[in-house]
Amino acid sequence: MSHPLALRPISSWLPTAGRPLIISGPCSAENENQMVQTAQQLAATGRVHLLRAGIWKPRTRPGQFEGAGQIGLEWLQSARQASGLPICTEVATAAHVEACLHAGVDVLWIGARTTVNPFSVQEIADALQGVDIPVLVKNPVNPDLELWIGALERLHKAGLYKLAAIHRGFSSFEKGPLRNAPMWDLPIELKTRVPELQIICDPSHIAGHRELLSFIAQKALDLDMDGLMIESHLCPDLALSDVRQQISPATLARLLEGLEIRTPSP
Ligand code: PEP
Ligand code: MN
Repeated sequence: MSHPLALRPISSWLPTAGRPLIISGPCSAENENQMVQTAQQLAATGRVHLLRAGIWKPRTRPGQFEGAGQIGLEWLQSARQASGLPICTEVATAAHVEACLHAGVDVLWIGARTTVNPFSVQEIADALQGVDIPVLVKNPVNPDLELWIGALERLHKAGLYKLAAIHRGFSSFEKGPLRNAPMWDLPIELKTRVPELQIICDPSHIAGHRELLSFIAQKALDLDMDGLMIESHLCPDLALSDVRQQISPATLARLLEGLEIRTPSP
C-alpha cells in the first residue's frame, strides 16, 4: 500500500449495523414473494442488518440459473419496503452499476470472479466515480492479496471511501471438505497491510455445505472479523443456486445464537 486508504467505518454508513455486521439473504433472488418473505423473516430475527441477493449470477459453467436480471431490483425494493432492511447486490459491469444506482440499492458488492479482473474492477470504479455508495469487495478467486488490495485502491481512487472487504475463501484444484480454502493468513495479512479496512467473512462460500457454516463463522469471530455474510433461503433444498450451503432464516437465527461473539477490544 503506497498510502493509507481514507475509509469510513461501517457504523458510519449503516448506523443500524451491529458488530459483527450480519448480512443475509438468498444466493439468488428467485421471485418477489421469496424476497419479501425472506426479508421479513430475517428482520424478525432481530439479528440481520443488511439483506443480500444476487440478481446477475456469475455461474462457473453455462446452462445454469444465471439470475433474474434487472427485474430482481424491483423485488429487492419490495423486500426493503416490507422489512425495513437495507439491500445489497452484486455488480460486475458498468450496466449493473447504473441499474443499481437508478434503483437506489443501498450497498453493492463485487464478486470473487470480478475482483480477479482489473479491467472489470476499473469499469465499475469508473461507473461509480464520485458516487457516495458503500462497496464490499470480495477476495479474488485466487489467493492474490495484491489483486484484492488493488481492487480496493481502484475504488478509492474513484472517490469511494465506504469500503469493506469480504473473505470468501480461495479456489483450488485440490478438493477438501470445504468448497473454498479459507487461507486465514490472507485476511489477517490484509488487516495488517490496511488496518483501517473492515473485513466480513462469508462462511457460506468457504464451507459450501451448511453443516460447516458455524465452524467457519466462529473461526472468523475468533479472528475478530467485523461481520458475517451467510446465505439464507426459505426452502434451502429448492434453491436455484448454491443449494447445499443455504439455510433457512430460522436456522440462521439458531446459528447466530450459538456463536460466541466477542466484545470489541478497547
Ligand atoms: C455469491 O455471493 O453468491 C457469489 C457468487 O459469491 P462469490 O463471488 O464469492 O463466488
Ligand atoms: Mn452464492
